[in-house]
Amino acid sequence: MNDFIQVCEPLLAGKEEEYVLDAVKTGWISAQGSYVNMFEDEFAKFCGVKYSTTVSNGTNAIHLGLKALNVSPGDEVIMPDFTMICSALPICYLGAKPIFVDAEPETWNIDPVKIEEKITKKTKAIMVVHIYGHPCDMKTIWEIAKKHELKIIEDAAETHGAEYYGKKCGDLGDIAAFSFFANKVVTTGEGGMVVTNSKDLIDRAKYYKDLCFPLSGERTYFHQDIGFQYRLSNLQAAIGVAQMEKIDDYIEMRINNNALYKKYLNDVGGISFQPEKKGCKNIYWMNAAVVDPIKYGVSRDILMEKLLERGIQTRKFFVPMHKQPALKKYGCDCNGSFPVSSWLSDNGLYLPSGSGLKASEIEYICEVIREIQKKN
Ligand SMILES: *Cc1c(COP(=O)(O)O)cnc(C)c1O
Repeated sequence: MNDFIQVCEPLLAGKEEEYVLDAVKTGWISAQGSYVNMFEDEFAKFCGVKYSTTVSNGTNAIHLGLKALNVSPGDEVIMPDFTMICSALPICYLGAKPIFVDAEPETWNIDPVKIEEKITKKTKAIMVVHIYGHPCDMKTIWEIAKKHELKIIEDAAETHGAEYYGKKCGDLGDIAAFSFFANKVVTTGEGGMVVTNSKDLIDRAKYYKDLCFPLSGERTYFHQDIGFQYRLSNLQAAIGVAQMEKIDDYIEMRINNNALYKKYLNDVGGISFQPEKKGCKNIYWMNAAVVDPIKYGVSRDILMEKLLERGIQTRKFFVPMHKQPALKKYGCDCNGSFPVSSWLSDNGLYLPSGSGLKASEIEYICEVIREIQKKN
């Protein structure tokens, strides 16, 4: 029981091995094969969208999504300051400029009230990132996008199955990107997916994903545009198909884990979790907690050290975009005031969050958190 508890182990509890071996035996190991098609179909159905295409990872899914929206050099894309750098880099790949908006204190997502002041003639799109499993405040964002004729791209890398008034993430904008990295709710090791309801956008994504080969399947080896090679292999898709058979269980496990943390830490002051706002289904990808060093009595960094001494691995929250040297060098405006994202990044940590975490482990982690407070 006191073995080392990792921050987020993947759970491969279904037919992963069987399907991967099947792919190996049939020889379909590259990007063509039945598992790729099955994975794409299952995932689109799950999200409630019409179209999908697999991609080599989530970052490339965002890149393709932006490319499909025709984000071009000189364009601006509004995005949250508080996210992982994977959200911002693809905007830079396209020669466009990421424009940062602070987080809202309650959900930690992009603050919709602060979006409009950042819109200029160059603004092409708004990127929403549903952080840690909680959907963004889409109603307000839809209104802003409509008023200013902007496209919406969802970075839904952390929100497989999260819902906003009954609609799933991935179905909340013009196009969306998912990740299947090892720590996500469903994984293929490395992998991603682009989903949309637009035939035109999915065709553009598929075209650019595969070196701009004609979608007709013709192989003349004349290429009309500069494409990318972002295909996912049938081997990885085989894992994805097995994961999709369990996705509802995995989501339930994450939600239950978070409920246990909240229950056991109920009387420990100074540790707070992301809420679930009205109309939203938070899938709690991570058990993301913010430490109030005064109320809890110990800082985030000391808490992390002491948890590690007791065999509990944690991670700090993301470093916000305005503090990223790479983005500053690229020419992003990093001078604004981002008090909420700075507060999150200084005080936030992920407690162990894997779907397969045992209730007894969560109880143990919470006991240790309580002891650390008592001793200080
Ligand atoms: C995981 C993640 C991505 C993409 O991850 P990949 O490792 O490229 O698959 C993008 N955005 C956010 C917010 C993420 O958490």
